Amino acid sequence: MSANTTLIENSSFTDNVDPQEIEKFSAMAAQWWDLEGDFKPLHMLNPTRLEYIEQGVEGLFGKTIVDVGCGGGILSESMAKQGASVIGIDMAHPSLQIARLHALETQTKLDYQKITAEEFASLHPQQFDVVTCMEMLEHVPNPASIIKACCEMLKPGGTVYFSTINKTFKAYLMMILGAEHLLKWIPKGTHEYEKFIRPSLLLADIDKTSLKCEDLCGVEFSPFTGGFNITKNVDVNYMLRCVKRG
Ligand code: SAH
Repeated sequence: MSANTTLIENSSFTDNVDPQEIEKFSAMAAQWWDLEGDFKPLHMLNPTRLEYIEQGVEGLFGKTIVDVGCGGGILSESMAKQGASVIGIDMAHPSLQIARLHALETQTKLDYQKITAEEFASLHPQQFDVVTCMEMLEHVPNPASIIKACCEMLKPGGTVYFSTINKTFKAYLMMILGAEHLLKWIPKGTHEYEKFIRPSLLLADIDKTSLKCEDLCGVEFSPFTGGFNITKNVDVNYMLRCVKRG
């Protein structure tokens, strides 16, 4: 092993990274802040999820937050703008570069790091008030390992948010056939049906940690407002709020 071979390249910390997923997001990186580009749905969704996160922790000002799978920083930056101290982590270097550049342009103070959730948790256990892991679990081989790492990063009593896509026929119709093939909102191949996650399975993984799920809600696109609304219907996109016991 050469002296500069890093721990990351040789350890089990990268077992839960799918190189094809990282390549896919790296190739799309230039699009992160194009409001009409490949990530338009995330921009439309962001105000709704930001409000949900803020309400669940009674405001973000002064909170320490890790945004796991932060991409180009759409959510990370918006949380930093509310006065939170945010670290965004992702394994796609080009996305992090775009995120850093955008934060410079908007003069937002936050930190971006290329590191896995698992390694970050091992380096910074029990240190954060809030962890967000949005639209990321459906892109990793082992979502349970990410959930466990998110829990480890949290202080006892801290709050973690997850969002992902349900494994239903309706989700296939809307997210793959509709959004990728018909409306062309997002590039073909962004999502794979096999990786969608039923809430019951996510909750089972959460139960294996010291997290307690406090809220589960659906997120639905409204053609009237052009935005997303929180609903009780978790058939397609959904979010969870969990608190760490202790
Ligand atoms: N959370 C952001 C971006 C979601 S896109 C948002 O909602 O706005 C999914 C992101 O997960 C991409 O940026 C991708 O690079 C990242 N990702 C996929 N697998 C990962 C892994 N194993 N570790 C860290 N990030 C990963």
